[in-house]
Amino acid sequence: MTETLSELEQAAALPLPTADEVAGAWDLHPKKHPATREQREAIFNRLSFGVDYTDHMAHAVYDEGKGWHSKVIEPYGPLTLDPAAAVFHYGQEIFEGLKAYRHDDGSIWSFRPGYNAARLNASARRLAIPELPVEDFLASIVGLVRADADWVPSVPGSSLYLRPFIIATEPFLGVRSARRLDYLCIASPSGPYFVNGFQPISVWVSPDYHRAGPGGTGAAKCGGNYASSLVPKLAAHEEGFDEVCFLDAATNTNVDELGGMNVFVVYEDGSVSTPVLTGNILEGGTRGAILQILRDRGNVVREETIPLQSLIADIESGKVAEVFACGTAAVVTPIGRIAGEGFDVSVTGGDVTKSIYDQVTSIQLGHAPDPYNWTYQLSA
Ligand SMILES: *Cc1c(COP(=O)(O)O)cnc(C)c1O
Repeated sequence: MTETLSELEQAAALPLPTADEVAGAWDLHPKKHPATREQREAIFNRLSFGVDYTDHMAHAVYDEGKGWHSKVIEPYGPLTLDPAAAVFHYGQEIFEGLKAYRHDDGSIWSFRPGYNAARLNASARRLAIPELPVEDFLASIVGLVRADADWVPSVPGSSLYLRPFIIATEPFLGVRSARRLDYLCIASPSGPYFVNGFQPISVWVSPDYHRAGPGGTGAAKCGGNYASSLVPKLAAHEEGFDEVCFLDAATNTNVDELGGMNVFVVYEDGSVSTPVLTGNILEGGTRGAILQILRDRGNVVREETIPLQSLIADIESGKVAEVFACGTAAVVTPIGRIAGEGFDVSVTGGDVTKSIYDQVTSIQLGHAPDPYNWTYQLSA
């Protein structure tokens, strides 16, 4: 049981410059013919996830000896890259995901952007990528969201999804860390995650594939982890399941996480447990926020090893009341069924899951007080 803040949580707790302080730090090169109101509304009327993009993107270049330079907000569009760019061959890439929300008064906010800035740099250190100063990360997001403010939807449950990422663009086929890289942030208006209400998902525990292993890149948010999760995800879909749950690669016995979401178990006695960070698990900002909220509610919270066999036994005996997954996209998703080779169990409870969903989304939307200082105003 750990109550001390992780390195990432400590970095995320450092004070940030205000949006007004960093606004304009990245030069705006406005698009000549941005989307019309009608075009935007047509997109807003059929919002899904990751399909549509705004008029602009943030872009900066890193050159060894020069650092990050050419920081701009420019028209969204294709990149021209040398086919020898290292990212195409050796996958030197990291990314982040966060959202901008429109509050009732029209102002635009994000949730823990300092966490994403700190995690981008933690991932950067693992992938031998130069770190991006936190002020630059913020300036890119503030600049982009202010340029594309009209693209932040106001339909309940919708948001502007922001995808910052860094790719190795040096054209070189030798294997070493690149000396030239590009940082970009793109933005995509996205609709409510739960279209048919708060629907529980089904999860297939992969018997043989792992998303990461000891000493690997499991704790970094990098494309490679996702590439390796596609085959097991496909297998889960073929078995009729929504998502894959990965076990730890060292022993193949303990619950790690889903392909892109952390896992929580709520027990009948009110205690809550989530897999302890082993270096294979991606430390989610949503996970951290939920841990904080539960501790402040007075729940007993454990970050611990969760053997799959104990989880199954505890579900069967009724000791487990709820299981849920969490991440920026959905906030939380109830898990209603967990199956794998030789087992298939159902969980029906969801009150704690729903109450966490309500509390986190209320803070994000400015409908509840924010004692943790998690919300960050991007624009008036
Ligand atoms: C991004 C991600 C999460 C969730 O992180 P949040 O910061 O909560 O969005 C969980 N697991 C993996 C593998 C991820 O890539």
